[in-house]
Amino acid sequence: MSSQGPRVVLLGKQGAGKGTQASRVAEHYAIAHLATGDVFRAAARDETPLGLQAKEYIDRGELVPDPIVIGVVREHLEDNDRQLVEAGFILDGFPRTQVQAVELDVVLEGDALDVIVNLDVPTEVVLARIAGRRVCVQCGTNYHVDSPPTEPWWCDKCGGHVVQRDDDREDAVMRRLELYEIQTLPVIQYYRRTGRLVNVPGQGDSNDVFAAVVAAIDARWELRR
Ligand code: AMP
Repeated sequence: MSSQGPRVVLLGKQGAGKGTQASRVAEHYAIAHLATGDVFRAAARDETPLGLQAKEYIDRGELVPDPIVIGVVREHLEDNDRQLVEAGFILDGFPRTQVQAVELDVVLEGDALDVIVNLDVPTEVVLARIAGRRVCVQCGTNYHVDSPPTEPWWCDKCGGHVVQRDDDREDAVMRRLELYEIQTLPVIQYYRRTGRLVNVPGQGDSNDVFAAVVAAIDARWELRR
């Protein structure tokens, strides 16, 4: 069956702007946005067994073990008779290891991904962005010390408290970037080999980056429609 919306994976370093761009892409195509980091943070806030388990890894800047992450993604993609797969989706922050990438192909059962967008931003730029990043504990909206909410530090959207993420502190960030090199670069190479990867420079004006991301998705999605 042909899908109603594109099936997209968005890759990029921490601080590359994945969350912001993925939300806009989801809205633009009216597709689901699945961000594994958000799922874990929400579960941690609700103190569910999954959340408490994941939090131990997240706060240290470590990756949550593959079986746990894959379980979460399977649950979402296979829910409701795979409606989400049929309708299209954007995955943000998954896959982050080669094991996850291979497992995703298995879960999709041949409903191949249309495109993998790699938001490319140099490490020195993401370091500066993450150091100033602040996030709403309630709805996940991102702010920056240079562009705070109207009433510091309470979220413009939901009124939640806006704080620095524990894993945005320097030692955790260095560990996350190290793990990105070791674990996630092979994922990029894996997708590049299949010809489905598009590199999009993630620096500069957010609207320009968004336009480039949409152009990359449309070009690939067009091939299936
Ligand atoms: P993010 O919000 O995408 O930066 O994710 C925050 C944290 O959640 C990461 O640093 C990991 O600890 C964990 N996490 C999110 N997605 C994954 C994934 N696909 N594999 C392993 N850990 C993940």
